[in-house]
Amino acid sequence: MDKENKKSEGQNLLKNLEYKNTNAWETSGEDIKTAAFDYCENYKHFMNISKTEREYTKNAILEAQKNGYQEIELLYKTKGKLQPGDKVYKNIKNKALVLAVIGNSPLVQGINLIGAHIDAPRIDIKQNPLYESTDMVFLKTHYYGGIKKYQWVTIPLALHGVIVTKEHTTIDVIVGEDETDPVFTITDLLPHLASEQMQKKMSEGIAGEDLNLLFGSIPYNDSEIKEKVKLNVLNILNQKYGIKEEDFISAELELVPSFKARDVGIDKSLVGAYGQDDRVCAYPSMTALFEINTPDRTSVCVLADKEEIGSMGNTGAESSFIENFVAKLCAYTNEFYNDIILRDCLESSKMLSADVSAGVDPNFKGTHDVLNASYIGKGISIMKYSGSRGKSGASDANAELVADIRRVFDENEIAWQTTELGGVDKGGGGTIARYVANLGIDVLDCGVPVLSMHSPFEVASKIDIYMAHRAYREFYLYSF
Ligand code: MN
Ligand code: MN
Repeated sequence: MDKENKKSEGQNLLKNLEYKNTNAWETSGEDIKTAAFDYCENYKHFMNISKTEREYTKNAILEAQKNGYQEIELLYKTKGKLQPGDKVYKNIKNKALVLAVIGNSPLVQGINLIGAHIDAPRIDIKQNPLYESTDMVFLKTHYYGGIKKYQWVTIPLALHGVIVTKEHTTIDVIVGEDETDPVFTITDLLPHLASEQMQKKMSEGIAGEDLNLLFGSIPYNDSEIKEKVKLNVLNILNQKYGIKEEDFISAELELVPSFKARDVGIDKSLVGAYGQDDRVCAYPSMTALFEINTPDRTSVCVLADKEEIGSMGNTGAESSFIENFVAKLCAYTNEFYNDIILRDCLESSKMLSADVSAGVDPNFKGTHDVLNASYIGKGISIMKYSGSRGKSGASDANAELVADIRRVFDENEIAWQTTELGGVDKGGGGTIARYVANLGIDVLDCGVPVLSMHSPFEVASKIDIYMAHRAYREFYLYSF
């Protein structure tokens, strides 16, 4: 026996008894590392074309169709009762999506769900946004989700969304993504004249009502007109989209960073992109589903909207769309459907609430309890409970489910770690977990650690992203 492998009794005991999470790059073979890099090329591409919940939904449906998924009502109408292996989806108002593969066991015995959200913090255009000031035109905005407002000024922004006319024509808008497009920006005060601003608290340095978007500056050539630049802008919008000023009232226009997802680090180990909360979990929960053909328990992927503002509204997880979809799965696989079948199905179901965790950032020491925090590169993180202060508002997973998930991940060599959302009394938050828990479903938070969460450029590790894909796949396939 050579000396290096000879361990003392205490060393062996320690190795056996101590909990230690390790760096997933170190524990992964070359094949996994290569797969992680390859996987993230597709991920970055999908991020670049899916910067809003509407775009995400549209692109996810196209991907689903490529993978053999059909609209659930259409499939049921054409073939009748759904069978194991059938792949279906339901579009929720163009802003959320549910996908499923029918499994071998009856729905009443429960299903495996993974739920992520596809909305992200951003800046929305107000319903009556246009005004002219000092020969420039601006759009009034209202930020969406928890942003640090100072991060969103002086960066190039793209305008995405829809304008729906009174005649119910939907006009898709994307300006600022193509290299030949203009971009937009919100200006900030020069430091030379900012002595007053710089004395303010960071939360007040940029006021919400001052997030006004620079939109144009050429006057319309008519001396009889008072607001010439505004008229010129309206004229351009009318020529380009056929709209009038009033049409903004029935529009959903969102400002997002115009830059693309990029590799970060000299070793290209990380991805920097807008909207990784929570598309860094939404994308793997979707690609994992696409690898599944006929699972034991029916696999369901939920891609919800409105999480960043409390999951309200009929595209948010608090509404009935998840329950409605599961009811349909129960009914379309069982001609003797009744309400108890749905209730029993929900109570026997397991779910991962796939949402990002706050990776430890050594630039901000003291934010986390280092023993109970997630780290970049150490794999997917499971968070038993969320909430703030004394676990207020927490979704607290049952220990039995946490034990099951540890086993699923360990059996399949998934790098994972445990986390809570920051140290006690440092703040906190929640995910869609609490809403699905209300349906009786056993649910655990489980996602990718990110840095700079809710900023225009969030950072995540490629190995963690790929581990999420693998972890979610094994969860879907597990026979609880
Ligand atoms: Mn999130
Ligand atoms: Mn968030």
